[in-house]
Amino acid sequence: MGGTLLHKNIGIIGGGITGLIVGIFLAKEGHRVSIYEKNALLSETSSKTTKLLHGGLRYLESFHFNEVKNGLNDRSWWLENFPKHTNKLKISIPFRNIFSFILLKSFLGIKLYEFLAGPKNLDTSKISKSLKKEFSLKDEYNTFLSFYDGSMDDNSLGKELINLAKDLNIRLFENNEVINFDTNGAIDGSKFDKIILAVGPWSNILLEQNNIKSKKDIDYIKGSHLIINRKLESGLMFSSICRSRYIFALPYKGNTLLGTTEEKVMHPELMYISKHEIDYLIDSYNQILKKPISISEIISSYSGIRPLIKSNDNFHNSSRDFFIQKDNSLLTIFGGKWTTSPSIARKIVTIIENAEVS
Ligand SMILES: Cc1cc2nc3c(=O)[nH]c(=O)nc-3n(C[C@H](O)[C@H](O)[C@H](O)COP(=O)(O)OP(=O)(O)OC[C@H]3O[C@@H](n4cnc5c(N)ncnc54)[C@H](O)[C@@H]3O)c2cc1C
Repeated sequence: MGGTLLHKNIGIIGGGITGLIVGIFLAKEGHRVSIYEKNALLSETSSKTTKLLHGGLRYLESFHFNEVKNGLNDRSWWLENFPKHTNKLKISIPFRNIFSFILLKSFLGIKLYEFLAGPKNLDTSKISKSLKKEFSLKDEYNTFLSFYDGSMDDNSLGKELINLAKDLNIRLFENNEVINFDTNGAIDGSKFDKIILAVGPWSNILLEQNNIKSKKDIDYIKGSHLIINRKLESGLMFSSICRSRYIFALPYKGNTLLGTTEEKVMHPELMYISKHEIDYLIDSYNQILKKPISISEIISSYSGIRPLIKSNDNFHNSSRDFFIQKDNSLLTIFGGKWTTSPSIARKIVTIIENAEVS
């Protein structure tokens, strides 16, 4: 990060991971930061994730190489800076046959993933024949391709980030819904040098309410998870029943975290798991399990909305990349992932310090 010019007074609307990390990066550069959050910090989309710190192996299928590389770089930022709350996680993909095209394709994809991680690769992927007992899978699954990614305890990590924000004298206003803001630096009557709109799925709605034109259209894609009363030692990744996507079963506080789904919804508040999603997740997992899971083993569920920037692709293949819209003193953040919030923050610091705002 370059040398600080004049320290600025910055107002951030939205206290999810994006607003919080952007605030922390700016405060570290000496800027005065205030964060306004409608509910509790980190209580919305940022608490509804698969808890992975990753480049997104599956986005390689849509050739988003740069995005994956950046994500892998950010993955190692999290693992290096927050070792108490993050881990290297082994994830295995089961196959019925060692001589299959899909195994070869997955193997090459994972090797590319490792190549893109470069020296920051976590460990070397392997093909093995011996993991069946560990997961109690059907006998027909006799070959496993294992690779490594990052995982986090978002709860404890979130608490540490909030403490860090307080240590940096960031002013945190929770339960404080912002109604009015403008491109000249006003938030509900208070004046700032710069405003950052980091409201995840609510960006288009808030821009529209304040008569500011959005340069990006958003698809609201709901994703749901189930917590299942079964212990797992490491992660599994397998095809869903419709074969069009991958599902993860991951170790989670002594249980299994199973997810996720992708369902288009019309509004960011529509974040409830449907019966169809529950059946989809359970039926997908049961395809590979020796002892099927039943509804009674579900401990809880949660759903969140991905604000994906609309593209020409089918939304299943949409990029998770981010975009920053500049309107005078207002910067609006679209898209991104938990993992890539440091990249977003670095970009915002550069824009603000170089006064690139147009
Ligand atoms: C199902 C699912 C799984 C995911 N899994 C992963 C994963 O494994 N790894 C990963 O890296 N990423 C994952 N993501 C992506 C990740 O969750 C998001 O990129 C990230 O949480 C977005 O953070 P955010 O701060 O932009 O949005 P949010 O967390 O939604 O924060 C925006 C905040 O703005 C607040 N707000 C809204 N309106 C106002 C207002 N008027 N005034 C004040 N505050 C307001 C909201 O209350 C909210 O807290 C997943 C997403 C989903 C939905």
